[in-house]
Amino acid sequence: MNNINYTTSNNLCLGCGLCSDACPTNSINMKVVNGEYRPIVNSSSCINSKGCHRCSMVCPGVGIALNQIGLKKFGIYDECRHHNLIGFYSKAYSGYALDYETRFHGASGGLLTAFIAFLLDKKFISAAVVAENDLSQPFLNKTILIHNSGDLYKARSSKYCPVTFEGIVKQIKQEQGQVVVVGLPCVMQGFRKFEENDAKLRGKILGYLGLYCSCGRTFNLTEYVFRQKGIDKEKLNYFQYRDEGCLGSLVAKTDKEFREEFQLYYHPLRSFFIPNRCQFCIDHFSELADLSFGDIHYGKYKDDKVGINSLVVRNLKFDSLLRAAVNEGYIHLEALSEEELVGCQASAPKKKGRVGGVLKFARLIGLKVPEYDVPLTNFVYWKSVAYYLFAKTQMFIGRRRYLWWIIPLFMKKEKVD
Ligand SMILES: Cc1cc2nc3c(=O)[nH]c(=O)nc-3n(C[C@H](O)[C@H](O)[C@H](O)COP(=O)(O)OP(=O)(O)OC[C@H]3O[C@@H](n4cnc5c(N)ncnc54)[C@H](O)[C@@H]3O)c2cc1C
Repeated sequence: MNNINYTTSNNLCLGCGLCSDACPTNSINMKVVNGEYRPIVNSSSCINSKGCHRCSMVCPGVGIALNQIGLKKFGIYDECRHHNLIGFYSKAYSGYALDYETRFHGASGGLLTAFIAFLLDKKFISAAVVAENDLSQPFLNKTILIHNSGDLYKARSSKYCPVTFEGIVKQIKQEQGQVVVVGLPCVMQGFRKFEENDAKLRGKILGYLGLYCSCGRTFNLTEYVFRQKGIDKEKLNYFQYRDEGCLGSLVAKTDKEFREEFQLYYHPLRSFFIPNRCQFCIDHFSELADLSFGDIHYGKYKDDKVGINSLVVRNLKFDSLLRAAVNEGYIHLEALSEEELVGCQASAPKKKGRVGGVLKFARLIGLKVPEYDVPLTNFVYWKSVAYYLFAKTQMFIGRRRYLWWIIPLFMKKEKVD
Protein backbone atom coordinates (compact mmCIF):
# COMPACT_ATOMS: atom_id res chain seq x y z
CA MET A 1 0.00 0.00 0.00
CA ASN A 2 0.97 3.61 -0.59
CA ASN A 3 1.09 6.55 1.72
CA ILE A 4 -0.98 9.70 1.21
CA ASN A 5 1.32 10.77 -1.65
CA TYR A 6 -0.68 8.35 -3.83
CA THR A 7 -3.80 10.45 -3.19
CA THR A 8 -2.13 13.80 -3.83
CA SER A 9 -0.14 12.73 -6.88
CA ASN A 10 -3.35 11.39 -8.47
CA ASN A 11 -5.28 14.58 -7.74
CA LEU A 12 -7.68 12.77 -5.41
CA CYS A 13 -6.99 14.81 -2.28
CA LEU A 14 -9.87 16.61 -0.57
CA GLY A 15 -7.66 18.49 1.87
CA CYS A 16 -9.56 17.16 4.89
CA GLY A 17 -6.33 16.69 6.87
CA LEU A 18 -7.43 13.46 8.57
CA CYS A 19 -4.30 11.73 7.22
CA SER A 20 -2.24 14.10 9.33
CA ASP A 21 -4.00 12.99 12.53
CA ALA A 22 -3.76 9.34 11.57
CA CYS A 23 0.01 9.53 11.15
CA PRO A 24 1.73 7.90 14.17
CA THR A 25 5.01 9.75 13.53
CA ASN A 26 3.52 13.23 12.92
CA SER A 27 5.06 13.22 9.46
CA ILE A 28 2.19 14.97 7.67
CA ASN A 29 1.38 18.68 7.71
CA MET A 30 -1.32 20.47 5.76
CA LYS A 31 -0.32 23.44 3.58
CA VAL A 32 -2.31 25.64 1.23
CA VAL A 33 -1.20 24.98 -2.35
CA ASN A 34 -2.93 27.00 -5.10
CA GLY A 35 -6.11 27.50 -3.12
CA GLU A 36 -6.46 24.03 -1.58
CA TYR A 37 -5.09 22.21 1.48
CA ARG A 38 -2.59 19.50 0.66
CA PRO A 39 -0.74 17.04 2.91
CA ILE A 40 3.03 17.43 2.83
CA VAL A 41 4.81 14.26 3.93
CA ASN A 42 8.16 14.33 5.69
CA SER A 43 9.71 11.32 3.96
CA SER A 44 12.54 11.01 6.49
CA SER A 45 10.17 10.26 9.39
CA CYS A 46 7.36 8.51 7.41
CA ILE A 47 7.25 4.78 8.22
CA ASN A 48 5.04 3.69 5.33
CA SER A 49 7.76 1.40 4.02
CA LYS A 50 7.65 -0.43 7.36
CA GLY A 51 3.97 -1.28 6.81
CA CYS A 52 2.23 1.70 8.41
CA HIS A 53 -0.27 3.01 5.75
CA ARG A 54 -2.46 4.68 8.43
CA CYS A 55 -2.82 7.83 6.31
CA SER A 56 -4.11 5.92 3.30
CA MET A 57 -6.51 3.89 5.40
CA VAL A 58 -8.44 6.96 6.57
CA CYS A 59 -8.30 8.81 3.24
CA PRO A 60 -11.77 9.47 1.76
CA GLY A 61 -10.18 10.72 -1.48
CA VAL A 62 -9.61 7.19 -2.78
CA GLY A 63 -13.28 6.25 -2.34
CA ILE A 64 -15.46 4.44 0.16
CA ALA A 65 -18.06 1.68 0.46
CA LEU A 66 -20.97 4.11 0.93
CA ASN A 67 -23.76 1.55 0.72
CA GLN A 68 -22.04 -1.03 2.90
CA ILE A 69 -21.25 1.43 5.71
CA GLY A 70 -24.64 3.16 5.42
CA LEU A 71 -26.42 -0.17 5.76
CA LYS A 72 -24.30 -1.20 8.75
CA LYS A 73 -24.82 2.09 10.60
CA PHE A 74 -28.45 2.92 9.78
CA GLY A 75 -30.01 -0.29 8.44
CA ILE A 76 -30.58 -1.35 12.07
CA TYR A 77 -33.72 0.84 12.32
CA ASP A 78 -37.11 -0.60 11.29
CA GLU A 79 -38.05 2.70 9.63
CA CYS A 80 -34.85 2.82 7.59
CA ARG A 81 -35.23 2.80 3.81
CA HIS A 82 -32.77 3.28 0.98
CA HIS A 83 -33.08 5.96 -1.66
CA ASN A 84 -30.66 6.05 -4.56
CA LEU A 85 -29.80 9.74 -3.94
CA ILE A 86 -30.34 10.17 -0.18
CA GLY A 87 -28.77 6.89 0.93
CA PHE A 88 -30.12 5.00 3.97
CA TYR A 89 -32.49 7.19 5.99
CA SER A 90 -35.56 7.11 8.21
CA LYS A 91 -37.11 10.57 8.25
CA ALA A 92 -36.94 14.03 6.70
CA TYR A 93 -37.98 17.43 8.02
CA SER A 94 -38.01 21.08 7.14
CA GLY A 95 -37.28 23.49 9.97
CA TYR A 96 -35.45 26.45 11.40
CA ALA A 97 -33.92 27.89 14.54
CA LEU A 98 -36.47 29.60 16.79
CA ASP A 99 -33.95 32.25 17.82
CA TYR A 100 -34.38 34.88 15.09
CA GLU A 101 -30.72 35.98 14.92
CA THR A 102 -29.51 32.38 14.58
CA ARG A 103 -32.05 31.76 11.82
CA PHE A 104 -31.43 35.04 9.95
CA HIS A 105 -27.63 34.80 10.09
CA GLY A 106 -27.37 31.04 9.53
CA ALA A 107 -26.58 29.67 6.07
CA SER A 108 -30.04 28.15 5.66
CA GLY A 109 -32.34 28.34 8.69
CA GLY A 110 -29.74 28.18 11.46
CA LEU A 111 -31.02 24.72 12.40
CA LEU A 112 -27.53 23.28 12.82
CA THR A 113 -26.36 26.02 15.17
CA ALA A 114 -29.57 25.88 17.20
CA PHE A 115 -29.48 22.09 17.51
CA ILE A 116 -25.84 22.07 18.60
CA ALA A 117 -26.64 24.84 21.11
CA PHE A 118 -29.31 22.54 22.55
CA LEU A 119 -26.90 19.59 22.75
CA LEU A 120 -24.30 21.75 24.54
CA ASP A 121 -26.74 23.52 26.89
CA LYS A 122 -28.37 20.25 27.94
CA LYS A 123 -24.96 18.54 28.26
CA PHE A 124 -25.56 15.77 25.74
CA ILE A 125 -22.11 16.69 24.42
CA SER A 126 -19.08 18.42 25.90
CA ALA A 127 -18.00 19.97 22.58
CA ALA A 128 -18.81 20.38 18.90
CA VAL A 129 -16.36 20.50 15.99
CA VAL A 130 -17.25 23.46 13.75
CA ALA A 131 -15.45 25.76 11.31
CA GLU A 132 -14.87 29.44 12.01
CA ASN A 133 -13.47 32.17 9.73
CA ASP A 134 -9.94 33.13 10.77
CA LEU A 135 -9.74 36.88 10.25
CA SER A 136 -6.08 36.87 11.32
CA GLN A 137 -5.35 34.84 8.15
CA PRO A 138 -7.88 36.20 5.65
CA PHE A 139 -9.63 33.59 3.47
CA LEU A 140 -8.58 30.80 5.84
CA ASN A 141 -10.64 29.31 8.64
CA LYS A 142 -10.10 27.39 11.85
CA THR A 143 -11.71 24.08 12.67
CA ILE A 144 -12.33 24.24 16.39
CA LEU A 145 -13.94 22.46 19.30
CA ILE A 146 -16.61 24.71 20.79
CA HIS A 147 -17.53 24.05 24.40
CA ASN A 148 -20.44 26.40 24.98
CA SER A 149 -23.33 27.64 22.93
CA GLY A 150 -22.17 31.26 23.28
CA ASP A 151 -19.09 30.57 21.13
CA LEU A 152 -21.09 28.65 18.56
CA TYR A 153 -22.63 31.71 16.94
CA LYS A 154 -19.24 32.93 15.64
CA ALA A 155 -18.86 29.72 13.62
CA ARG A 156 -22.28 29.94 11.99
CA SER A 157 -22.98 29.80 8.25
CA SER A 158 -21.38 27.98 5.34
CA LYS A 159 -17.71 28.16 4.45
CA TYR A 160 -17.54 27.87 0.67
CA CYS A 161 -13.86 27.16 0.73
CA PRO A 162 -11.57 24.34 1.88
CA VAL A 163 -11.75 23.39 5.57
CA THR A 164 -9.09 21.19 7.07
CA PHE A 165 -9.55 19.03 10.17
CA GLU A 166 -5.83 18.66 10.87
CA GLY A 167 -5.28 18.25 14.61
CA ILE A 168 -8.97 17.80 15.45
CA VAL A 169 -9.02 14.04 16.00
CA LYS A 170 -6.29 14.36 18.62
CA GLN A 171 -8.29 17.07 20.40
CA ILE A 172 -11.51 15.03 20.25
CA LYS A 173 -9.76 12.12 21.94
CA GLN A 174 -8.77 14.38 24.84
CA GLU A 175 -12.36 15.53 25.47
CA GLN A 176 -14.01 14.56 28.74
CA GLY A 177 -17.38 13.89 27.14
CA GLN A 178 -18.71 13.11 23.68
CA VAL A 179 -18.72 15.44 20.69
CA VAL A 180 -20.55 16.04 17.43
CA VAL A 181 -18.63 16.77 14.23
CA VAL A 182 -19.99 19.08 11.50
CA GLY A 183 -18.65 18.61 7.99
CA LEU A 184 -19.18 18.02 4.29
CA PRO A 185 -19.93 14.53 2.89
CA CYS A 186 -16.26 13.81 2.17
CA VAL A 187 -15.29 14.64 5.76
CA MET A 188 -18.07 12.38 7.11
CA GLN A 189 -16.58 9.62 4.96
CA GLY A 190 -13.08 10.26 6.30
CA PHE A 191 -14.25 10.14 9.92
CA ARG A 192 -16.17 6.90 9.28
CA LYS A 193 -12.98 5.36 7.92
CA PHE A 194 -10.94 6.74 10.81
CA GLU A 195 -13.25 5.44 13.55
CA GLU A 196 -13.41 2.00 11.93
CA ASN A 197 -9.95 1.21 13.33
CA ASP A 198 -9.95 3.61 16.25
CA ALA A 199 -12.22 2.62 19.14
CA LYS A 200 -11.15 5.61 21.22
CA LEU A 201 -12.31 8.06 18.56
CA ARG A 202 -15.53 6.07 18.05
CA GLY A 203 -16.29 6.27 21.73
CA LYS A 204 -15.91 10.06 21.76
CA ILE A 205 -18.33 10.69 18.90
CA LEU A 206 -22.01 11.14 19.73
CA GLY A 207 -22.73 11.71 16.05
CA TYR A 208 -21.88 13.28 12.73
CA LEU A 209 -23.85 16.27 11.48
CA GLY A 210 -23.34 16.46 7.72
CA LEU A 211 -23.98 19.23 5.22
CA TYR A 212 -25.41 18.52 1.79
CA CYS A 213 -22.89 19.45 -0.87
CA SER A 214 -23.12 19.95 -4.61
CA CYS A 215 -19.34 20.57 -4.63
CA GLY A 216 -16.65 22.52 -2.79
CA ARG A 217 -14.72 25.63 -3.87
CA THR A 218 -11.05 26.53 -3.63
CA PHE A 219 -9.77 29.62 -1.79
CA ASN A 220 -9.21 31.11 -5.24
CA LEU A 221 -12.95 31.76 -5.45
CA THR A 222 -12.78 33.96 -2.35
CA GLU A 223 -9.71 35.73 -3.69
CA TYR A 224 -11.36 36.30 -7.07
CA VAL A 225 -14.54 37.71 -5.51
CA PHE A 226 -12.53 40.00 -3.22
CA ARG A 227 -10.58 41.32 -6.23
CA GLN A 228 -13.73 41.87 -8.26
CA LYS A 229 -15.48 43.75 -5.47
CA GLY A 230 -12.39 45.64 -4.36
CA ILE A 231 -12.52 44.23 -0.82
CA ASP A 232 -9.23 44.74 1.05
CA LYS A 233 -8.62 41.42 2.87
CA GLU A 234 -6.05 43.03 5.18
CA LYS A 235 -8.73 45.34 6.61
CA LEU A 236 -11.36 42.63 6.98
CA ASN A 237 -13.16 42.61 10.33
CA TYR A 238 -16.26 40.63 9.34
CA PHE A 239 -16.96 38.13 6.58
CA GLN A 240 -19.61 35.57 5.65
CA TYR A 241 -20.26 33.86 2.34
CA ARG A 242 -23.96 33.70 3.20
CA ASP A 243 -25.59 36.01 5.69
CA GLU A 244 -28.75 37.99 6.32
CA GLY A 245 -31.65 35.79 5.28
CA CYS A 246 -32.41 33.19 2.66
CA LEU A 247 -30.48 32.39 0.46
CA GLY A 248 -28.56 35.31 1.84
CA SER A 249 -25.70 37.49 0.68
CA LEU A 250 -21.95 37.73 0.92
CA VAL A 251 -21.30 40.30 3.64
CA ALA A 252 -17.80 41.73 4.10
CA LYS A 253 -16.88 44.60 6.39
CA THR A 254 -13.64 46.57 6.32
CA ASP A 255 -13.81 50.33 6.78
CA LYS A 256 -16.57 49.92 4.15
CA GLU A 257 -19.43 47.39 3.87
CA PHE A 258 -19.92 45.07 0.90
CA ARG A 259 -22.99 43.00 0.11
CA GLU A 260 -23.80 40.79 -2.86
CA GLU A 261 -26.66 38.34 -3.22
CA PHE A 262 -25.36 34.77 -2.83
CA GLN A 263 -26.77 33.46 -6.09
CA LEU A 264 -25.41 36.39 -8.08
CA TYR A 265 -21.75 36.00 -7.14
CA TYR A 266 -21.51 32.32 -6.30
CA HIS A 267 -23.37 30.23 -8.85
CA PRO A 268 -22.12 31.97 -12.01
CA LEU A 269 -18.55 31.33 -10.86
CA ARG A 270 -18.93 27.75 -9.82
CA SER A 271 -16.93 25.68 -12.31
CA PHE A 272 -13.88 27.93 -12.33
CA PHE A 273 -12.98 27.15 -8.75
CA ILE A 274 -14.06 23.53 -8.21
CA PRO A 275 -11.45 21.35 -6.49
CA ASN A 276 -10.41 18.49 -8.79
CA ARG A 277 -11.64 15.74 -6.53
CA CYS A 278 -15.19 17.15 -6.34
CA GLN A 279 -15.69 16.16 -9.98
CA PHE A 280 -15.61 12.51 -8.88
CA CYS A 281 -17.92 12.84 -5.87
CA ILE A 282 -21.22 10.93 -5.75
CA ASP A 283 -22.38 11.87 -2.24
CA HIS A 284 -24.66 14.92 -2.16
CA PHE A 285 -26.63 14.24 1.02
CA SER A 286 -23.77 13.32 3.40
CA GLU A 287 -24.94 9.73 3.36
CA LEU A 288 -22.77 8.63 6.27
CA ALA A 289 -23.89 11.41 8.64
CA ASP A 290 -26.36 10.72 11.44
CA LEU A 291 -28.21 13.90 10.46
CA SER A 292 -27.73 15.90 7.25
CA PHE A 293 -28.63 19.57 6.80
CA GLY A 294 -29.27 21.66 3.70
CA ASP A 295 -31.43 24.34 2.12
CA ILE A 296 -34.98 24.02 0.89
CA HIS A 297 -35.44 26.86 -1.54
CA TYR A 298 -38.21 25.00 -3.33
CA GLY A 299 -42.01 24.76 -3.76
CA LYS A 300 -43.94 26.35 -0.92
CA TYR A 301 -40.64 27.31 0.79
CA LYS A 302 -39.39 29.42 -2.09
CA ASP A 303 -40.80 32.74 -0.90
CA ASP A 304 -39.16 32.55 2.51
CA LYS A 305 -36.73 35.41 3.11
CA VAL A 306 -35.48 34.60 6.63
CA GLY A 307 -34.21 31.01 6.38
CA ILE A 308 -35.40 27.41 6.29
CA ASN A 309 -33.52 24.10 6.30
CA SER A 310 -34.26 20.64 5.08
CA LEU A 311 -32.94 17.81 7.22
CA VAL A 312 -32.39 14.06 6.81
CA VAL A 313 -32.50 11.73 9.83
CA ARG A 314 -30.58 8.48 9.59
CA ASN A 315 -29.94 7.68 13.25
CA LEU A 316 -33.18 7.55 15.24
CA LYS A 317 -31.35 8.33 18.49
CA PHE A 318 -30.94 11.77 16.95
CA ASP A 319 -34.62 11.94 16.08
CA SER A 320 -35.38 11.79 19.84
CA LEU A 321 -32.82 14.55 20.44
CA LEU A 322 -34.40 16.69 17.71
CA ARG A 323 -37.82 16.24 19.34
CA ALA A 324 -36.36 17.26 22.68
CA ALA A 325 -34.86 20.37 21.04
CA VAL A 326 -38.33 21.19 19.66
CA ASN A 327 -39.90 20.75 23.13
CA GLU A 328 -37.23 22.95 24.71
CA GLY A 329 -37.98 25.76 22.22
CA TYR A 330 -34.69 25.68 20.28
CA ILE A 331 -35.99 24.63 16.87
CA HIS A 332 -39.11 24.25 14.75
CA LEU A 333 -39.61 21.10 12.62
CA GLU A 334 -42.20 19.86 10.13
CA ALA A 335 -42.34 16.51 8.34
CA LEU A 336 -40.98 16.66 4.78
CA SER A 337 -41.86 14.27 1.95
CA GLU A 338 -39.18 12.39 0.03
CA GLU A 339 -40.36 14.13 -3.13
CA GLU A 340 -39.80 17.58 -1.61
CA LEU A 341 -36.46 16.55 -0.16
CA VAL A 342 -35.10 15.32 -3.48
CA GLY A 343 -36.89 18.07 -5.43
CA CYS A 344 -35.10 20.83 -3.55
CA GLN A 345 -31.64 19.47 -4.49
CA ALA A 346 -31.17 19.91 -8.22
CA SER A 347 -27.51 18.83 -8.03
CA ALA A 348 -28.16 15.51 -6.30
CA PRO A 349 -29.23 13.53 -9.41
CA LYS A 350 -26.16 14.80 -11.27
CA LYS A 351 -23.84 13.32 -8.68
CA LYS A 352 -25.18 9.79 -9.02
CA GLY A 353 -25.86 10.34 -12.74
CA ARG A 354 -23.39 12.49 -14.64
CA VAL A 355 -20.48 11.59 -12.35
CA GLY A 356 -20.88 7.92 -13.37
CA GLY A 357 -19.98 8.94 -16.94
CA VAL A 358 -17.18 11.20 -15.72
CA LEU A 359 -15.63 8.31 -13.78
CA LYS A 360 -15.92 6.01 -16.80
CA PHE A 361 -14.19 8.56 -19.06
CA ALA A 362 -11.50 9.36 -16.51
CA ARG A 363 -10.67 5.64 -16.19
CA LEU A 364 -10.54 5.36 -19.96
CA ILE A 365 -7.93 8.09 -20.25
CA GLY A 366 -5.85 6.43 -17.54
CA LEU A 367 -6.67 8.57 -14.52
CA LYS A 368 -6.93 7.05 -11.05
CA VAL A 369 -10.46 7.57 -9.69
CA PRO A 370 -12.13 6.86 -6.34
CA GLU A 371 -13.77 3.46 -5.91
CA TYR A 372 -17.36 3.22 -4.63
CA ASP A 373 -19.71 0.30 -4.04
CA VAL A 374 -22.63 2.18 -5.66
CA PRO A 375 -23.91 1.19 -9.11
CA LEU A 376 -23.68 4.27 -11.39
CA THR A 377 -25.48 3.74 -14.67
CA ASN A 378 -27.87 6.67 -14.98
CA PHE A 379 -25.91 8.92 -17.34
CA VAL A 380 -25.64 9.92 -20.98
CA TYR A 381 -21.98 9.27 -21.67
CA TRP A 382 -21.27 12.01 -24.22
CA LYS A 383 -22.98 14.59 -21.95
CA SER A 384 -20.84 13.52 -18.99
CA VAL A 385 -17.70 13.79 -21.09
CA ALA A 386 -18.69 17.19 -22.50
CA TYR A 387 -19.44 18.47 -19.00
CA TYR A 388 -16.14 17.11 -17.67
CA LEU A 389 -14.05 18.69 -20.41
CA PHE A 390 -15.88 22.03 -20.19
CA ALA A 391 -15.52 22.14 -16.39
CA LYS A 392 -11.85 21.14 -16.66
CA THR A 393 -11.23 24.05 -19.03
CA GLN A 394 -12.84 26.46 -16.57
CA MET A 395 -10.87 24.94 -13.69
CA PHE A 396 -7.66 25.38 -15.71
CA ILE A 397 -8.43 29.10 -15.90
CA GLY A 398 -9.45 29.31 -12.24
CA ARG A 399 -6.07 27.93 -11.14
CA ARG A 400 -4.09 30.56 -13.05
CA ARG A 401 -4.49 34.09 -11.78
CA TYR A 402 -3.03 35.55 -14.98
CA LEU A 403 -6.03 34.08 -16.85
CA TRP A 404 -8.69 35.45 -14.52
CA TRP A 405 -9.50 38.27 -16.96
CA ILE A 406 -11.21 35.58 -19.09
CA ILE A 407 -13.67 34.59 -16.37
CA PRO A 408 -16.21 37.43 -16.81
CA LEU A 409 -16.51 36.50 -20.50
CA PHE A 410 -17.73 33.02 -19.59
CA MET A 411 -19.68 33.58 -16.39
CA LYS A 412 -23.21 32.29 -16.48
CA LYS A 413 -25.55 35.24 -16.67
CA GLU A 414 -28.62 33.54 -15.27
CA LYS A 415 -29.50 33.25 -11.60
CA VAL A 416 -29.39 29.57 -10.62
CA ASP A 417 -31.36 28.21 -7.65
C1 LIG B 1 -19.29 23.79 0.24
C2 LIG B 1 -20.74 23.66 0.64
C3 LIG B 1 -21.66 23.23 -0.32
C4 LIG B 1 -23.01 23.11 0.02
N1 LIG B 1 -23.91 22.66 -0.93
C5 LIG B 1 -25.22 22.58 -0.62
C6 LIG B 1 -26.18 22.19 -1.60
O1 LIG B 1 -25.85 21.90 -2.75
N2 LIG B 1 -27.49 22.13 -1.24
C7 LIG B 1 -27.90 22.46 0.02
O2 LIG B 1 -29.09 22.44 0.29
N3 LIG B 1 -27.02 22.80 0.99
C8 LIG B 1 -25.70 22.88 0.69
N4 LIG B 1 -24.79 23.23 1.66
C9 LIG B 1 -25.25 23.33 3.06
C10 LIG B 1 -25.86 24.67 3.39
O3 LIG B 1 -25.11 25.72 2.81
C11 LIG B 1 -25.87 24.89 4.93
O4 LIG B 1 -24.57 24.75 5.44
C12 LIG B 1 -26.73 23.89 5.66
O5 LIG B 1 -28.04 23.95 5.17
C13 LIG B 1 -26.77 24.21 7.17
O6 LIG B 1 -27.40 25.43 7.33
P1 LIG B 1 -27.75 25.98 8.77
O7 LIG B 1 -28.36 27.34 8.62
O8 LIG B 1 -28.52 24.95 9.52
O9 LIG B 1 -26.32 26.07 9.39
P2 LIG B 1 -25.68 27.17 10.37
O10 LIG B 1 -26.55 27.28 11.57
O11 LIG B 1 -25.36 28.39 9.60
O12 LIG B 1 -24.36 26.42 10.80
C14 LIG B 1 -23.46 25.93 9.83
C15 LIG B 1 -22.46 25.07 10.58
O13 LIG B 1 -21.68 24.36 9.63
C16 LIG B 1 -20.29 24.62 9.87
N5 LIG B 1 -19.67 24.70 8.55
C17 LIG B 1 -19.95 25.55 7.56
N6 LIG B 1 -19.24 25.29 6.47
C18 LIG B 1 -18.47 24.23 6.78
C19 LIG B 1 -17.51 23.48 6.05
N7 LIG B 1 -17.19 23.77 4.79
N8 LIG B 1 -16.91 22.45 6.68
C20 LIG B 1 -17.20 22.14 7.96
N9 LIG B 1 -18.13 22.82 8.70
C21 LIG B 1 -18.74 23.84 8.10
C22 LIG B 1 -20.26 25.97 10.57
O14 LIG B 1 -19.10 26.10 11.35
C23 LIG B 1 -21.52 25.90 11.41
O15 LIG B 1 -21.30 25.26 12.61
C24 LIG B 1 -23.45 23.41 1.34
C25 LIG B 1 -22.51 23.84 2.30
C26 LIG B 1 -21.17 23.97 1.95
C27 LIG B 1 -20.19 24.45 3.01
